[in-house]
Amino acid sequence: MPALSESLGDVAGGRLTIDLNALRQNYQKLSACAPGVDCASVVKSDAYGTGIEKAVAALLEAGCTTFFVAFPEEGFRARSIAPEATVYVLNGLNQESIPLFAEAKLRPVLGDPEEIAEWAAYARNSDSPQPCALHVDTGMNRLGLSAAQARKLAADEDLLASLSPTLVMSHLACANTPSHPMNALQIARFAEIRELYPDIPASLANSAAMLGNLRAHFDLLRPGIALYGGQALDNQVNQMEPVITLEARIIQLRHLEKGEMVGYGAAQTLARASRIAILGAGYADGYHRRAGSSDACPGATTMISGYSAPVVGRVSMDLIAVDVTDVPEDYAQRGAWVELFGKHVLVDDVAECAGTIGYELLTGLRRRYQRIYVG
Ligand SMILES: *Cc1c(COP(=O)(O)O)cnc(C)c1O
Repeated sequence: MPALSESLGDVAGGRLTIDLNALRQNYQKLSACAPGVDCASVVKSDAYGTGIEKAVAALLEAGCTTFFVAFPEEGFRARSIAPEATVYVLNGLNQESIPLFAEAKLRPVLGDPEEIAEWAAYARNSDSPQPCALHVDTGMNRLGLSAAQARKLAADEDLLASLSPTLVMSHLACANTPSHPMNALQIARFAEIRELYPDIPASLANSAAMLGNLRAHFDLLRPGIALYGGQALDNQVNQMEPVITLEARIIQLRHLEKGEMVGYGAAQTLARASRIAILGAGYADGYHRRAGSSDACPGATTMISGYSAPVVGRVSMDLIAVDVTDVPEDYAQRGAWVELFGKHVLVDDVAECAGTIGYELLTGLRRRYQRIYVG
């Protein structure tokens, strides 16, 4: 709904600022992890909330030529910006979606024998090769052929010839914890499978595998979260540049006495006389309800002009209360913008408070914000 942000302009309750320069820098930094290895970009789920069209355009400028999406609809949107790029669709196909792949020159990632048979039948009936990727499971048990199925397919020359695979790939379950034994196991299994398809480029590494130096680079890297500034590795300082800043506007201020309670459920009792600012955004905008505070448990923090303002009480559908007692009054004014996450409050810190991960916060941002692209 682009008309919304255009017509409402800066009267929206919240705004999202997306720094395309930071996105390009992150791409360059990540591709430098493995010089000489091709680096794709994963742009599924609206490019992790940044907006797929703008993200693809910026990543093309940064030198990216291969994109991964989850569904054909996302592939169409990537294709509209990148007519020449290679676009893989991770979640594969169903019979109804086959014509869509052909129309937009999308390459399905195939991980099931039935799906493979459908694509092969379609390819045999068409005039030109119809490239695809093969997904092999190496222990995550989510998508992909079993090792036995991959072996059988590798021996079936006719079937392989109709498929024209341009990539063989797998996905790591535990790359966010580099020392996890699953990593070595999956890398070894993938190296073995990959030998069955010696002429086809191979891909295994997501952001965490790249940043954790797992030496799982193969021929094509597939970072997602790190491009957008999110934390890929557990318990490490995040080296990536934040791309998304979420801010909400102060719509009301109130002075409260010690002992008063704030918000639904009267969950938070004030331990001191406080100045409370009410912000115009809430869980309906994708700011998680569990980032709120109670007497038992502190909540997330927000930031105003370099001063912390912790969330007070439960997050409502469209409103959040924050404690601005320690913020100079000049800054904590009605109409002022408060950073919910971005360059100063890390999205992963807010996510941790809410018992989730940065990925979920970014991809859960809704459309009610004013969107600003910079860089
Ligand atoms: C989402 C996804 C990626 C990107 O993972 P990040 O952790 O965001 O870097 C790579 N490969 C596959 C198969 C995925 O589903």
